Amino acid sequence: MSAFLDACRAVVGAANVLTGPDMAGYLTDWRRRFTGAAQAVVRPGSTREVAAVVRLCQEHRVPVVPQGGNTGLVLGSVPDESGTAIVLSLARMNRILAVDTINNTMTVEAGCILEQVQNAAADAGRLFPLSLAAEGSCTIGGNLATNAGGTAVLRYGNTRELCLGLEVVTPHGEIWDGLRGLRKDNTGYDLRNLYIGAEGTLGIITTCVLKLFPQPQARLTALAAMGSPDDALALLSAAQEKCGATLTAFELMSDFCLQLVTKHYPQMRLPFPTPYPQYVLLELSDSESEAHANAMLEALIADALERELIQDAVVASSIAQSKALWNLREHIPLAQADEGKNIKHDVSVPISRIGDFIRSTDVLVRQAFPGARLVTFGHLGDGNLHYNVSPPEGGSPDAFIARQEEINRVVHDSVHQYSGSISAEHGLGALKRDEIRRYKSDVELGLMRALKQALDPLGLMNPGKVI
Ligand code: FAD
Repeated sequence: MSAFLDACRAVVGAANVLTGPDMAGYLTDWRRRFTGAAQAVVRPGSTREVAAVVRLCQEHRVPVVPQGGNTGLVLGSVPDESGTAIVLSLARMNRILAVDTINNTMTVEAGCILEQVQNAAADAGRLFPLSLAAEGSCTIGGNLATNAGGTAVLRYGNTRELCLGLEVVTPHGEIWDGLRGLRKDNTGYDLRNLYIGAEGTLGIITTCVLKLFPQPQARLTALAAMGSPDDALALLSAAQEKCGATLTAFELMSDFCLQLVTKHYPQMRLPFPTPYPQYVLLELSDSESEAHANAMLEALIADALERELIQDAVVASSIAQSKALWNLREHIPLAQADEGKNIKHDVSVPISRIGDFIRSTDVLVRQAFPGARLVTFGHLGDGNLHYNVSPPEGGSPDAFIARQEEINRVVHDSVHQYSGSISAEHGLGALKRDEIRRYKSDVELGLMRALKQALDPLGLMNPGKVI
């Protein structure tokens, strides 16, 4: 028997300290690429319990791996193979604590599932706009820890922009109460923004104050077809000019992406008689009325057709049609997985350089890996692309995956040339911890190390991740 685990049981109750086979679901990452080991999974039910468990970890020198929904894609939420750490699951801390429709804020515990947060906001007649395909299982604490993006960043910003206050348990087991719902607060270092995006390496987010927005009166979705990413960029400029803040989403998808979707999900169809090289899925959220949104969208499409920025377009005329268009976008990762193993890159470059980036990187990848199939799609309005690479048709997937590092090098070096980022929204975790050293300056890495050392001198908070 371990004195440490007994002490954890005394804090959270024996039923909330899982060991042996009960830990299975917590040790493997979402894409099933890696399974780590842990002493236990500890499931506290309150901030005070989190703090007490962290203090025990300090005393016994036990590493802590915070975990929300375990949907992260960069091996941040699972422990290494040493078996020395505990996984600290926030799953039981899932209460909506307060909704304030005058301040337009809500206060929620970190283990709330994102969908639960969205629904609580909607029940109060408000919108919490963060939206991503994992929303049925990811937690708001994980969203904050990774500064998640998603499909509405163009209008509402990343998770960072949606948060006004945090409560955090520090690596020493102290509780920092920064649950202020203030829009203005210039009182020194911005600790809130330090913890957001830190991927659990500086402390554990236990509660947060989130921003709420008015519910839009109408949502309109359209799919436009065009010849190139440059045409898509020109359409983006036109849409921003004509539709202003009503433009909520602007997603680019290559023809090959949608060919994969219709191959693996034949019930889904493209609404055009012939294929085009590129497509954009765009959404307007209008605070006035459906008629107002329709008029804006029709004017945008008519102008883009006349200027030959787009070759065809459809506007969804019902919620079902809108869902069908979004389904095409959301099934791309699934279809690519059905097609077989592939190599993913979550990158960003300045929006104006996206067309050049795609063109030149495609050439470099095809020169180095003849036959490689490029599955390029993403949040064009944020300069964020999922630049994924599948093996040549009929080629050996394992042989291709064995060259992953070489492929990453070609893609990431190109991103760097374009002043971009090798992780736009998924974070670094353990997966990109070493890779980032190639692209950040010694000064930047030194500052990050100094922060980590100052806040977590024993290095117990999610070790081996980020830095
Ligand atoms: P976890 O996976 O449990 O943890 C992620 C990281 O945060 C880990 O480092 C963990 O230690 C840390 N952490 C978790 N909770 C806390 C806490 N309370 N305090 C401190 N640290 C904590 N991401 C996007 O940004 N945009 C997308 O569009 C997107 N789409 C996705 C689609 C699918 C199908 C999937 C599977 C994932 C997608 N993701 C996307 C990635 C993932 O959903 C996000 O990173 C999400 O924010 C992770 O939340 P989680 O609760 O699952 O966190």
